[in-house]
Amino acid sequence: MVAKKSSALPAGVHYRVEPADLHAHLFRVTLTIARPAAVQQVSLPVWIPGSYLVREFSKNLQKLNARQGTRGATVQQLDKCSWQIKADPLAPLTLSYEVYALDNSVRTAWLDAQRGFFNGTSLCLRVHGQEAAAHALEVTGTPSTATWHVATGLTPNKINRKGFGTYLAAHYDELVDCPVEMGVFWSGEFRAGGVPHRFVVAGAAGSFDGKRLLADAQKICEEAIRFWHGKRKPPHKSYLFMLNTVDDGYGGLEHRNSTALIASRRDLPRVGETRTTEGYTTLLGLISHEYFHTWNVKRLRPAELATYDYTQENYTELLWFFEGFTSYYDDLLLRRAGLIDNATYLKLITKTINGVAQAPGRKVQSVAQASFDAWIKYYRQDENTANATISYYTKGSLVGLCLDLTLRAEGRTTLDAVMRALWARCQGGPMTEQDLLAVLAQLGGRSFAPDIARWVHGTADLPLASLLERHGVQIHQEPDQVAQQLGLRVKESGGLFIQQVLRGGVAEKAGFASGDEWVAVQPAGSDAHGAWRLQSLDDFILCAGNAKKVTAIISRDKRLQSLTLALPKATQAVRLAVKDAALVDAWLGPQIAASPTKTK
Ligand SMILES: [Zn+2]
Repeated sequence: MVAKKSSALPAGVHYRVEPADLHAHLFRVTLTIARPAAVQQVSLPVWIPGSYLVREFSKNLQKLNARQGTRGATVQQLDKCSWQIKADPLAPLTLSYEVYALDNSVRTAWLDAQRGFFNGTSLCLRVHGQEAAAHALEVTGTPSTATWHVATGLTPNKINRKGFGTYLAAHYDELVDCPVEMGVFWSGEFRAGGVPHRFVVAGAAGSFDGKRLLADAQKICEEAIRFWHGKRKPPHKSYLFMLNTVDDGYGGLEHRNSTALIASRRDLPRVGETRTTEGYTTLLGLISHEYFHTWNVKRLRPAELATYDYTQENYTELLWFFEGFTSYYDDLLLRRAGLIDNATYLKLITKTINGVAQAPGRKVQSVAQASFDAWIKYYRQDENTANATISYYTKGSLVGLCLDLTLRAEGRTTLDAVMRALWARCQGGPMTEQDLLAVLAQLGGRSFAPDIARWVHGTADLPLASLLERHGVQIHQEPDQVAQQLGLRVKESGGLFIQQVLRGGVAEKAGFASGDEWVAVQPAGSDAHGAWRLQSLDDFILCAGNAKKVTAIISRDKRLQSLTLALPKATQAVRLAVKDAALVDAWLGPQIAASPTKTK
């Protein structure tokens, strides 16, 4: 049986997305399936690739109904995110529904009077059986969005000068890998490696220096393309950065030819300012991180994620490689591109080293386990996270650092060469840990299996100090912050509140718990002064002085309790500094003499 040709739609699966009600934050979606199955199933993904948490996007989908021509069709819900419709395969099936969108993150969807944004995983039902076919996405405006523009990495089919109109994706995976930004945004362009790149920024304030952002982003992209391909072209034909700037926010999600970023508008470069603030360095690091993912996770990717299963968790032990090594290279490429100097680079590594050293969970979980458990641990952080888990981002980046410094010390190869050889071996596609071990053995001239076993599958501390010293870095020991010395993480807001109690610390021994308010402190033997009311840890330092022991008064569930807190000898944190500039430059690359910017 041959179904009759249904319409002039450019693809058999066609979505029309309309920002229907800005104040109710509702997108209206009309999905037309030219040739439906007799029993057609559709479902909404439960997660978005790159963000390893089941998010149940279907909770925001409502008013789903179906029709064929003028005739209504019955929709039967199968589970939390799947439906089926009995249809006449000879006629187009049209589904319509609304999606509520008020999550200001890069992972879902947003719609208000200023701006619209969506990922296909939030708005586009998957048409079972037709995932491999071409998909069309038509973005239509309304009178309320007359001043808006549209930006997306999808291939334009028929669009107007503002970007509204129809786009095409080769298949469902591509459709949901191309988020869409809508609104009144700043837009600029540059070329890197001969490829056109566009940067759109929503929500920027009047001081925003777009020219500087473009120039710096271009340097980052050129450095990344040079890293993977030398003078050859990158695998993408175009690239789009979609940055949403807000009062307070940070994050990014990688895609094959675009990325959605969120950052504080305070971190944007400002007109007339040439220094590079810490905030702007962080933003450049985010840009570098997501762009590096264009290769490392979107193409070279865990074998388990060769095909995404949108219905459930997709487990892999390799996030320490894909997120960790990307984190190693994000700041390193800023340094190589001349956007930060050696001192700033070492400051960033210092922060990572101390962060990992301060997490008791590093003794509990390996980075391979942390990767596998991302779905229930990294993405579901709570008061026990620091005690039970280790970040595959931060420790993973230090594994990258250890591996690079070891390879360089042994003199046969570098991690750069290993990454490129892996890309070649796996043809920019799925890879396993065995692939990495094979390339390491080949280029490094020995087996690195014992090192990877210790660093990735074990919980022993990494041999960072000796490796860094060997590459010209001096390691200073300094007293840790008071919160770390006590083994606490606190919130100081209208009082001193305990957020986390670190395993093995003096606060845990004294009996502090997450949720306590630390009301007052009385140094031992100071009855004359009574107890001191606390509002902050600074107050604690002021009141405790050199006391070896204090009585802490806490409020738990409105009941006051006295705890005996023995104060420890100061614990140490590290600070890295350049000792031998020639050795450091041999690792990081020559210092760019006239760095255009200085760090705050
Ligand atoms: Zn990442």
